[in-house]
Formats: sequence, structure tokens, C-alpha cells
Amino acid sequence: MARLVLDQITRAFGDVTAVDRISLDVADGDFLVLLGPSGCGKTTLLRMIAGLLEPTDGSIRIGETDITGLPARKRDLAMVFQSYALYPHLSVEKNLAFPLKVQKTPKAEIAERVRAAAESVEIAHLLDRKPKELSGGQRQRVAVARALVREPRAFLMDEPLSNLDAKLRTATRQELAALHRKLGATFVYVTHDQVEAMTMATKIALLNAGRLEQYGTPEELYDAPSSVFAAGFLGSPAMNLMEATLTTTDGRVSVFAPGLEAVLWAGATPDREVVAGVRPEHLSIHAGGAPEAVPTAGIALRGAVALVENLGREQLVHCTIGEHRVTVSCDRATRWTVGELVVLAAPAERVHLFDRASGRRLE
Ligand code: ATP
Repeated sequence: MARLVLDQITRAFGDVTAVDRISLDVADGDFLVLLGPSGCGKTTLLRMIAGLLEPTDGSIRIGETDITGLPARKRDLAMVFQSYALYPHLSVEKNLAFPLKVQKTPKAEIAERVRAAAESVEIAHLLDRKPKELSGGQRQRVAVARALVREPRAFLMDEPLSNLDAKLRTATRQELAALHRKLGATFVYVTHDQVEAMTMATKIALLNAGRLEQYGTPEELYDAPSSVFAAGFLGSPAMNLMEATLTTTDGRVSVFAPGLEAVLWAGATPDREVVAGVRPEHLSIHAGGAPEAVPTAGIALRGAVALVENLGREQLVHCTIGEHRVTVSCDRATRWTVGELVVLAAPAERVHLFDRASGRRLE
């Protein structure tokens, strides 16, 4: 168990900079999720932490030790692969015992550690089986148990749930989160699945084209995305994003776009081109016939219903606002019909503003 510090870690493959000067400080016991779209550098970063790939530049520390040049086997980290990498001809018990045998651990201690690891992930009843006699979820747990017996300083996992069906993925996700809480160990976990990141992580590092886009708790990333990219990546359905202009009129700061009227706060700001964002669950929807006032501090969007999707528990009402498509997520108490005029509203504190040129959040 240990604090993990990455300092300006970089990895190039020829002309491609897969990981570009990433610095992260991961506390002991954190569940760090490396999140981002395909090709953003998650696996490359994890492989460098594991010692399977050398950085072009930068350093990695665990606790007080610089491990940048240390071979993988000396790092005391356990990697759980997507493919599980279990030995097919060995029983579960022998699979678990294998890493300890290699380390020449005494027999009695091997038996004890295998038993403890198997019990902690509830596979003690499967010890005599071969991997092919197990379900995907059970194999997953064996792979975790094999990492556990080594009592590593941290667990590294690369999309460990991607081979499981949706139901099992949910169950295994909850198990992994529980296991993390129980062990109190540091986890570093690669995924492109935002639900896995939101539900398991204590910290998310969101990567975009090799760069660190944002680093924080799941709540920080969701409630205050630092960029248009982060705003669009986390959340399903995605945050509504609209190009608009920020101006000051009569001492009130407003944001304007076709179909969008908003008074955000009292004060003054230099005029600028922005992207305004609001999450579907933060918009309320009203019939458009009555002259709906713009909230004293907030936004109002005027348009028409384009499509209604019934999700069972809630509905998504997609509306056309000027040239934008804006989605509202709301309960199903009111039926909305296609073509109906509507007003969508949200309070100012639910509106996210980003500089249009840089994509960065405005404070
Ligand atoms: P995915 O979710 O698809 O696995 P990822 O975020 O894990 O993607 P990486 O596998 O780390 O992304 O790849 C990052 C970039 O580096 C990609 O552009 C990839 O093509 C490139 N890359 C990775 N490994 C190599 C390699 N061995 N040689 C050349 N380019 C590589």
C-alpha cells in the first residue's frame, strides 16, 4: 500500500505522443480510474506504472522510492488483465499458489494466503475447478484473488470487466468497489466506461489525446467539469452544449444565442464567445404558450419538441432551440407532443460556461 506519484510522465511512439507530461498524486488507498476515449493513452500510462513500458520522460514514485527504472517484478504491484491470464491446465488453487511458488514462499504460508484470498472474493468453493469450468465473473474473481495472494502495494487493472455481460458487469463492479473498501489498497483502474468510473473511483483522471484533462473526485468532474471535453464526456445523456455570447447589459451579465435568453448574474464581464452547458436533468420544461419569464438569475430556452423518448422511469424530451438540439430529462407526469412549443429553464448555478476558443471553464 502506498502513495503513487507520477511526475511529467511522457511516452512517445515515433511521432505519436501517447502520454504527454502527465502528473498525478494518488493517495494511499485511493481507487484511481484512468478514464477517456479509445486511444487517449490510458493503457500506455498503466503499462508505465506497471513497469511493462519505459517512459520517454518523467518519473514514477511509490512511497519514497523512485521506481521509474525498476523492472516490473520488483515493483510489488499486481496487474489484473482483461483476459485474466489464468493458466488453463491448472486448478484455481494452483493458479492462486503459482506466484507464491515462484517467490519460493513456504508451503504452509502458501496454503494460508491462498485460503484467505479465496475467501475474500468468495471463491473458496471453486478451488478444485479449472478456469474453463468457471463463469466469466468467477474467472474475474480468480484473477483478482491471484493478485491478492501477493499482497501487493497496489492493484493495476486494465478494463477487467469488458468481457462480461451487462448484468455481470454491474455485479462485479459492485464487488470490486466493496473489495477496495475492505482491503484499503491503492487501485489504478483503466476504463472508457464513465459509469464504472463514477461508481467505483475515489479519484478520476480524465485523459484526452495523451493529456490530463481533469483530475478530481467523480463529483468534482460531474459538478464542475474543467473543459468542454470533460463536460461532454461525463454524463448520460450528455450535457447540452450551445455556442453563445456573453455580454453585459444594464449591469447584468447575460448569455445570448438564437432561442436562448439568460440573465446570469449582476456585475460586468468583458464580452466574449462562450459555450454554455446545462445537464438534461437540470432543465425544467414548460408549455410555451404562456409568456414564460426568464428566471431572474438563470436561462430560458424557447423552442419546440422534436422527439420524446420514454425510458420507463423518466422521459427524454429532445427539443429544437434555434439551431441546437437540447435534451431535457424529466418525469413522465406530463405528455409532450412533437411540434409543441416549449420553454426550458434552469437556474444560473446550473449553467456551465466555457471559453469557446480554449474550451476551458470560466470561473
Ligand atoms: P483503448 O481504450 O482503445 O485501449 P487507450 O486509451 O488505452 O485506448 P493506448 O493504448 O494507451 O490508448 O494508446 C494511446 C496511443 O498510442 C494511440 O494512438 C495508440 O495508437 C498509440 N500506441 C499505443 N501503443 C503503441 C505502440 N506499441 N506503438 C505505436 N503506437 C502505439
